[in-house]
Amino acid sequence: MRILKNLGKTDREIHDMIKKELKRQRESLELIPSENFASMAVMEAVGSVLTNKYSEGYPGRRYYGGNEFVDKIESIAIERAKALFGVPYANVQPYSGSPANFAIYAATCKPGDVVMGMNLTDGGHLTHGWKTSVTGQYFKSVPYHVKSDGYIDIDEARKLASENKPRLIWIGATAYTRALPFKEFAEIADAEGAYLAADISHVSGLVIAGVHESPAKYADIIMTTTHKTLRGPRGAIIMVTDKGLQKDPELASKIEKTVFPGLQGGPHDHTTAGIAVALLEASTPEFKTYGRQIVTNAKALAEELKARGLKLVTNGTDNHMILVDLTPIGKGMGLFVQEALDKAGITVNKNTIPNEPFSPFYPSGIRLGTPAVTTRGMKEQEMKVIGGYIADVIEEIKSYSMPEEKEERQEYIAKFKKEIGKNRKIKEIKKNVVDLCKRFPLYEGVKI
Ligand SMILES: *Cc1c(COP(=O)(O)O)cnc(C)c1O
Repeated sequence: MRILKNLGKTDREIHDMIKKELKRQRESLELIPSENFASMAVMEAVGSVLTNKYSEGYPGRRYYGGNEFVDKIESIAIERAKALFGVPYANVQPYSGSPANFAIYAATCKPGDVVMGMNLTDGGHLTHGWKTSVTGQYFKSVPYHVKSDGYIDIDEARKLASENKPRLIWIGATAYTRALPFKEFAEIADAEGAYLAADISHVSGLVIAGVHESPAKYADIIMTTTHKTLRGPRGAIIMVTDKGLQKDPELASKIEKTVFPGLQGGPHDHTTAGIAVALLEASTPEFKTYGRQIVTNAKALAEELKARGLKLVTNGTDNHMILVDLTPIGKGMGLFVQEALDKAGITVNKNTIPNEPFSPFYPSGIRLGTPAVTTRGMKEQEMKVIGGYIADVIEEIKSYSMPEEKEERQEYIAKFKKEIGKNRKIKEIKKNVVDLCKRFPLYEGVKI
């Protein structure tokens, strides 16, 4: 099936780049844990005529005419989200995860209020109160951390909450390989009368598949992005739980008002349709099998990396993600490993590790995840092979080390990139990666 025919006629430049990007996605191993491959059905909905419509307001209460069908689409998306996550209220309009989180702050806090979230370099998200995010500037952010074993320090969080009396507490992460302790955080929030928001952006697909506990019983508010393990278009959903409505009967209407008109204008109706499609896909038995396989694959990959002598934060994983602690080969090595793996056709991202010994920009770890390769149909056997490639690549760059002197780093990195581009072993791995990818076709039959 040939797609983007019209684009090819209108704009050769962009058409060409999308064509190249499809080839890149097809021929590399996507191990960034926040990425996935949306179905053709989801992308068709997102690429539809719905992009033409304005629908400020909510179903049945719009500021524009002509919303007969958009109302139905948004209502379907809402009902599907409520049913899948077992909640009484869902808002599917947030443009993405970050603005959704800001809407949660706006609904629950006043500027200057105390908020608590997991520290960024310990695995938390920027929007959970990090200093460079407005959430860390408009609110008084009191971050909690992970212990030296990599697990969330629940005792510290309890102590900080009791000392600082936050209005809002976040539980959720972008770089955490273990089950999120919803129950313990609900106890902490309840003891202080704080709102508890569970940000399950990374694990929502696993929650649906039943391989990660659901926060519905524990949190007042749940937020998930729709493009990570959920495998939909880029967007987000904010939900209010029964518990949240009991604590504050106004909570759903507060969220509604802060999303629109508080923070946003017209909703992205094409995205809403894509979210509805993704939620339908996520309600099938096949999706449950998919979610289970993501975790099985992550465990298999973790085992292989360990067998090859690599050190993992928390020594393994409960979810879709693995954090490799590279300090045994050197501090600040994340960038080198990311670049070398990139040359081998394996896409990962450098990441901080608990008690990061170098810097957030030159961190000492890499973060890997299995959602995208699992979508391609890869299983434990392939994870073992991929783990072997990763260990082989790391072996090739062991002799490099990040200069302590800041002024020396740029030049050293440039030299590293040049040399690694010529490395024969890495070139050979790249060939094997392409062959492996071809055995698991992506968007089969689609041509640009
Ligand atoms: C990805 C993510 C977000 C932000 O989502 P964007 O769509 O990138 O704005 C927020 N919280 C967590 C935990 C995330 O993983």
